[in-house]
Amino acid sequence: MSRLLIIGCGGVAQVAIHKCCQNSDVFTEICIASKTKSKCDAIKAELEGKTKTIITTAEIDAMNVAKTVELIKSYKPDAVLNVALPYQDLAIMDACLLANVHYIDTANYEPEDTEEPEWKKAYEERCKEKGFSALFDYSYQWAYADKFEKAGLTALLGTGFDPGVTSVFAAYAKKHYFDRIDTIDILDCNGGDHGYPFATNFNPEINLREVSAPGSYLENGKWVEIPAMSIKREYNFKEVGQKDMYLLHHEELEALGRNMPEVKRIRFFMTFGQSYLTHMNCLENVGMLSTTPINYEGKEIVPIQFLKALLPDPASLGPRTKGKTNIGCIFTGVKDGKEKSIYIYNICDHEECYKEVGSQAVSYTTGVPAMIGSMLVLNGLWRKPGVFTTDEFDPDPYMEALNKWGLPWQVEENPVLVP
Ligand code: NDP
Repeated sequence: MSRLLIIGCGGVAQVAIHKCCQNSDVFTEICIASKTKSKCDAIKAELEGKTKTIITTAEIDAMNVAKTVELIKSYKPDAVLNVALPYQDLAIMDACLLANVHYIDTANYEPEDTEEPEWKKAYEERCKEKGFSALFDYSYQWAYADKFEKAGLTALLGTGFDPGVTSVFAAYAKKHYFDRIDTIDILDCNGGDHGYPFATNFNPEINLREVSAPGSYLENGKWVEIPAMSIKREYNFKEVGQKDMYLLHHEELEALGRNMPEVKRIRFFMTFGQSYLTHMNCLENVGMLSTTPINYEGKEIVPIQFLKALLPDPASLGPRTKGKTNIGCIFTGVKDGKEKSIYIYNICDHEECYKEVGSQAVSYTTGVPAMIGSMLVLNGLWRKPGVFTTDEFDPDPYMEALNKWGLPWQVEENPVLVP
């Protein structure tokens, strides 16, 4: 019996909302609040009558902390699930502290305006100090740990698939399969085809910022940074086939590096087809991925936001996408004195997801873990004061919930390793 306030109503939110409504025993009431209220009303209309969950909607600009506090105080949720954009993370965390509720999200903070002088100065210092130059990092949200702890509130960060489930896989491997983990390779393979020459599977601005940035990995506790897309490997994914994948910087590297310092090397790979890369390089070369506003005929526009307006809405890819995702982690290490390796992974079918909730698998694989993380905070199994990522809790109830709620996982012993 609990109430959840869900902020955001895009591709990921729509899956999380469907899943909360399938799980009405836990989510007795939800309020869907977003910038465009009509989107919230549309999904409420779609689900009402098919679920016992009581749904209300609201309009909110989550960058406005005072308004968000007002909404939280009037709706009185037990927790807030932030599935808006990473730009809103800190504002929503502030609002949760002021209104005394738990906080959950799926992506770590990054600023919308990367030219803002104060942020830029801190960013440049961080690049030098830590050795990776991604625009997003956990430092901003980890800095809230004392405040959440003192308030007796939980902030659960990054409960999507990657980050999210991948870090739970790491905690599970550590608990059940290894005495010592030596290496982790996180593999994100999307074998789906939506038929467009170029589209992104989740918010284009966030997605393109992420994949056009320099790659990096952790080796013996140190960041090694490489030019974007300069490390390529081939891998044969079960039920998908042979794919090219590229080493990227990714959020969970930072969290796992901090929480599992004994692991000697942690890398993240994502598959891309040649056509995607050619389009992305071209867009980057002509300046369309820039986040710096330009003046066009008297109006200020941000090139990447203009590009977002031109590209297909990720939420519209559902009916067109065929194929499967295969996402998981290869662990190597030692158990009972013997070397061993395993691959823990999930395979998800785009068309099955669409049949179930009207979304493609990339939104599905993020929205289901967002619901599961929220459920575990609400039912108390994953509740402790402070700010945590998903590798910092008991993985067992989460792994059990993945099997129950649509993302069953498998363990392969002695998988082919990534060179
Ligand atoms: P979308 O762009 O589809 O949706 C974002 C939603 O947030 C929209 O409904 C938008 O409203 C709303 N929004 C934007 N700004 C505000 C604001 N100021 N106040 C209130 N609502 C706002 O994004 P996705 O659904 O693809 O992604 C959602 C989140 O999930 C992102 O943070 C993304 O990084 C993360 N993600 C995480 C993954 C993981 O595995 N961990 C994988 C994929 C995504 P409107 O429509 O009116 O603009």
